[in-house]
Amino acid sequence: MAEVSPDEPTDRLRACLKQYWGYDDFRPLQEQAMRCVMEDRDSVVVLPTGGGKSLCYQVPALCREGLAVVVSPLISLMKDQVDALRECGVAAACVNSSLSASERMEVASAVRRGEIRVLYVAPERIVQERTKDFLEDSNLSFIAVDEAHCISEWGHDFRPEYRELKGLRERFPDVAFHAYTATATERVRSDIAENLGLKDHELLVGSFDRSNLFYRVERRRNRLLQIQKVLDRHQGESGIIYCISRRDVDELSETLNDLGYKTLPYHAGMDAEERQKNQEAFIQDRTETIVATVAFGMGIDKPNVRYVIHAGMPKALENYQQEAGRAGRDGLEAECCLFYSGSDAQLWRRILNEESAGNIDAAMASLEALDQFCTGVSCRHRSLVTYFGQDWPDEPCNACDVCVGDLDLLDNPLETAQKIVSGVVRLDQRFGGDYVSLHLTGSRDKRILENRHDQPSTYGILQQHDRRAVRDWLEQLVSQGYLEKVGEYRVIHVTAKGRELLRGAASPRLLQSRKRKSTAEASAEVRRESWDGVDRGLFERLRELRKELADERGVPAYIVFGDATLRELARQKPTSIEEIQEVKGVGEKKLRDYGDVFTQHIQAYLKNDTDPNRTAKAGVSKNTGRKISSASRRAWQFFRDGMTLAEVAETTGRASSTVTGYLCDFLQSEARTDPLPWVDADTFERVRTKATELQTDSSKQLFEALGETVSYDEIRISLTCVANELESCSQ
Ligand code: ADP
Ligand code: ZN
Repeated sequence: MAEVSPDEPTDRLRACLKQYWGYDDFRPLQEQAMRCVMEDRDSVVVLPTGGGKSLCYQVPALCREGLAVVVSPLISLMKDQVDALRECGVAAACVNSSLSASERMEVASAVRRGEIRVLYVAPERIVQERTKDFLEDSNLSFIAVDEAHCISEWGHDFRPEYRELKGLRERFPDVAFHAYTATATERVRSDIAENLGLKDHELLVGSFDRSNLFYRVERRRNRLLQIQKVLDRHQGESGIIYCISRRDVDELSETLNDLGYKTLPYHAGMDAEERQKNQEAFIQDRTETIVATVAFGMGIDKPNVRYVIHAGMPKALENYQQEAGRAGRDGLEAECCLFYSGSDAQLWRRILNEESAGNIDAAMASLEALDQFCTGVSCRHRSLVTYFGQDWPDEPCNACDVCVGDLDLLDNPLETAQKIVSGVVRLDQRFGGDYVSLHLTGSRDKRILENRHDQPSTYGILQQHDRRAVRDWLEQLVSQGYLEKVGEYRVIHVTAKGRELLRGAASPRLLQSRKRKSTAEASAEVRRESWDGVDRGLFERLRELRKELADERGVPAYIVFGDATLRELARQKPTSIEEIQEVKGVGEKKLRDYGDVFTQHIQAYLKNDTDPNRTAKAGVSKNTGRKISSASRRAWQFFRDGMTLAEVAETTGRASSTVTGYLCDFLQSEARTDPLPWVDADTFERVRTKATELQTDSSKQLFEALGETVSYDEIRISLTCVANELESCSQ
């Protein structure tokens, strides 16, 4: 930006930022973006989710005369924004189809009286002639278009009504337009400018890196346990778990609740009312975790999401960036964990092929990019940022599993890689990755024996390694171009580069997952930093207070104070109005509304700081969650030891259906294709044959078809093994 002196508008913007929001500094590019608004220069502002786009137009709206109009696509989003603005003392309102006629009239007359500073309007409404006429008389200062990628067919969320916004521009040629989006691609950006008819606009593109996010990518081995670990690291905090299918959402949510976690499901198959209820419970912190399909998230601006788990792989790197990006919008550290399996990518390939609508090559390319992101061996921050076309310094980020050394490189990768590639050659390049790894690890799998694939010299050549590890290496060799997957069945072929590797002329990289402990340690490290100096007891106390106040007002807790501010309060422990107004995140209105009650609670807390009862009590309530989840982990250990269902039910004190659930998760996580000793071989064979014959996985149907001679529990267990078998054959 050109040097401007004296910096009068910036001073005004800064004062306003402090007065209403209690923030001292701009986030990157906010100042420049706000200056565009102040100076009536059209602009396109591209900032990642959580980058602080809303303030780019909200702050200048208060520093200028007249009415700022914001076009925003979602009613829920509008409502949240308006609530948040009002809590900061900003006169804001919205007009959309959820308002009654009389409510709309009220808003209109408030606008006429000049009382409203920021007005949110739905796109379909703003393009109506009536609305335009109304705006003509409303001393319009500028128009902000939120989620502006909706205007582009190349974005992931095209909305035709956005196209009509050009008419608005024609009607108000002298009013500046400002577009905001988190979608980075060049194509979308130029679409926005063109379709809005922008003139000599300023283009501001922020860094796509989200430095407060810690990325972790793991192959799915033991899904439930992997998820539980993340949840245990974030007790009492908000998070989202994304699943691919609706059924998976329901089942996982239920299992986690059985284990003592507080979760609610969300997917498009639920009835609208229940869905809405669950969403609100999440936003208002009444449930900690939401288990959802990707239907969840658009328009959810909850800033204090501390983790996002992907229980399956999304269909494109763009989607991943967006979904994971819902973590840590408040700028505090948050964790994004992706648990993937080779079969996910395959599933998506199949779906994309079947849909075969739109641009299939582009869709496949971004699926491949994600696949490589998962199996790759370079910094996750770097991979994401460079995929979106930005540069990344050649330095470790210290915020991903690769850079903190959670993943070790193998000492003798060449030798191992050669063994794998030889195996592919020996099997005549006719099989998928799963089969090749069965062969290399010396499995007695039926198919291997039937095909006499226990004969070639590469059989069992990697038998000292876990089959999953070998499977992972295979993927890593694919991602480095030594092997390739060909055709619908993803048969593994050796590339020219792979043949060089056999001659020893290559330096492949293979990862080895280190012991789990370091993962937890690394994460603890990140957490420790931003909790530095925070009195956790006080934090919990203030969090309860925040919740009470929020409930009284019927707003989400973070609207009272965000987590960052709450931590700051529990760090600085202000006990007077003078002190609390210095705290970041406490603006004038919040000072008036909450200054007294918070300082009083802090005073009371400091007086009782040594009260042992309080600490003890907190310990107990937290323990319940942990106790229950350890029950399931104990159960897994018992299964490993071969205990029967009845024994495990008795030892853990859980109902037999719950224990069956644990067992199914256990079998799935271990990819066991054989249910012995929990179901005998005969029974299993009967269930398997019937399931194949009827092409069903409905327990009820099988129960009936088998003349009610096999119990539901036995059917469930057998079906899990059948599914594992299918999964292992599917490559
Ligand atoms: P986006 O719309 O880009 O996803 P938001 O506008 O919702 O991001 O901002 C994300 C969070 O960051 C909000 O809680 C907001 O209050 C906070 N925030 C924005 N700007 C600043 C700033 N300059 N200093 C501190 N916090 C900020
Ligand atoms: Zn990294």
